[in-house]
Amino acid sequence: MLLSKNKQFLAEDFSCQRIASYQPFNAVDGEGIRCSVYVSGCLFNCKGCYNKVAQSFKYGELYTEALEEKILTDIGHEGVQGLSLLGGEPFMNTQVCLSLVKKLRERYGLTRDIWIWSGYTYDELCNESEDKQELLSYCDILVDGQFIQELFKPNLAYRGSLNQKIVDVVKSKISGEEVLYSI
Ligand code: SF4
Repeated sequence: MLLSKNKQFLAEDFSCQRIASYQPFNAVDGEGIRCSVYVSGCLFNCKGCYNKVAQSFKYGELYTEALEEKILTDIGHEGVQGLSLLGGEPFMNTQVCLSLVKKLRERYGLTRDIWIWSGYTYDELCNESEDKQELLSYCDILVDGQFIQELFKPNLAYRGSLNQKIVDVVKSKISGEEVLYSI
């Protein structure tokens, strides 16, 4: 049974503004070469979670201005396509994620894309708290939905279970309905 969570899991109540890991220049978290930030903390507690240790909001290291500057500098390197935000749950850590995506857009405009992995679905986020909707507004591609072990399938591109979708957020906003991203 999936957790019902509408406007309950507010970042301001839970986030300790920590990250579990930062992986610069990888080629696995989305298309092209990417810089990936794995934030700490997620309340969904999916059975079979691939990153259980990062469910704790206290796990990992504090997100500092120095780390943020390093990430932004890395993203500026030639050949980097964009930023990936994973977790943990990025939308339960909007203080960290909003700070980073806003500065990314200020510095690089639309020359870098933003992919986000979330246990929330696109529809849920469209009706969520203001900070979550704001983070969604910066997102180009959303890999959405909680992990469901019974629907696990190996080798799904960028997803773990069949219920999860790769949503083209930019096209979805334009068309007014959910548009899936074609790989
Ligand atoms: S949403 Fe992701 S990080 Fe959160 S419990 Fe589920 S699998 Fe783990």
